[in-house]
Amino acid sequence: MDSSIEDAGALPGRAEQTDPGEGRSATPMTAPAAPAPVPSTSAAAEAHGGPGSSDGSPAPEGASASETSPASGVCPAPEVAPDPGAVAGPEVAVGGGAEGGAGRVAVAPTSLSPSRASDFMQCPLLYRFRVIDRLPEKPSAAATRGTLVHAVLERLFDAPAAERTAPRAKSLIPGQWDRLRESRPEVTELFADDPDGERLAGWLAEAGRLVERWFTLEDPTRLEPAERELFVEAELESGLRLRGIIDRVDVAPTGEVRIVDYKTGKAPRPEYAEGALFQMKFYALVVWRLKGVVPRRLQLVYLGSGDVLTYDPDLADLERVERKLRALWDAIRQATESGEWRPRPTKLCGWCDHQAHCPEFGGTPPPYPLPVRAAEPGTV
Ligand code: SF4
Repeated sequence: MDSSIEDAGALPGRAEQTDPGEGRSATPMTAPAAPAPVPSTSAAAEAHGGPGSSDGSPAPEGASASETSPASGVCPAPEVAPDPGAVAGPEVAVGGGAEGGAGRVAVAPTSLSPSRASDFMQCPLLYRFRVIDRLPEKPSAAATRGTLVHAVLERLFDAPAAERTAPRAKSLIPGQWDRLRESRPEVTELFADDPDGERLAGWLAEAGRLVERWFTLEDPTRLEPAERELFVEAELESGLRLRGIIDRVDVAPTGEVRIVDYKTGKAPRPEYAEGALFQMKFYALVVWRLKGVVPRRLQLVYLGSGDVLTYDPDLADLERVERKLRALWDAIRQATESGEWRPRPTKLCGWCDHQAHCPEFGGTPPPYPLPVRAAEPGTV
């Protein structure tokens, strides 16, 4: 493997864990067979983690712009808190539909991102609220900080290699925070009751510590990413469209590809690493479908705990993920057509913004905004 890849992290190994990322316009990389529009900011945000990015649940992924939840490492999913930092994004097609939440037009989903796949696995009703009803969610301080840190790490690579130092990176924080407030004014709500700016100062200081920790895990002076914030989209033979945003892609002269994702939360316990790798395998599948190349390495960089988790996938891994996503998509389509979205209460409900609409908490979902197909005779 080329030094540009080796320099950055752990040595090759399968699912090895060692001790020692939105809102921007992402570079598009889409399948020729399924040309995708350059994503809008909200599209990019959604594909990157969007509303409720969660690492949660039985087989989920890592939401890039999220931080660790109190439940971290306690149950098989909640490595990070859901990211309610954005309104439900466009994992939905443009098309006819009834009025959804906040006056948005509700339409049937036509594509899947790691975050939304994770939502459905965590709780089908949560998926419905986010993707079909598009109910608004409050921004969270942790997720917004994750977004800020991702922006800083991305922009640092604009500087010449020798100037990619920790002080330089930290100096980018105020400007990136300004940009984030401009692109997503709702994040200013986070500090609306902070007149003396004390909480904001502490929040920014923590962002600085996370940025600084990155330099103990990777050496950006020895990295030249092939892509940063890469928007990817591919259509599988089944017609399922997969999309997402990859924080960083490194490509060796030999053509070996490494996919890197930054997490501002803590690394999961080893027994939960598979869940954390789901998102990365999803991206690896998309890259394989787009480029015909199985990424050599998947790398999760946990800034919260200072860990790096790597995995070297093979073709069988990607085929398994594809089968799993196909089954998941079948279940989503079935629920979309029948209007039956079951709540699945877990510890992660504590992070859900929709308890007021959830029957598990005495709430009532809004009227289902899509047409419902009548059950066929003989079916339950
Ligand atoms: S509160 Fe309800 S909708 Fe939200 S995750 Fe829990 S069961 Fe699902």
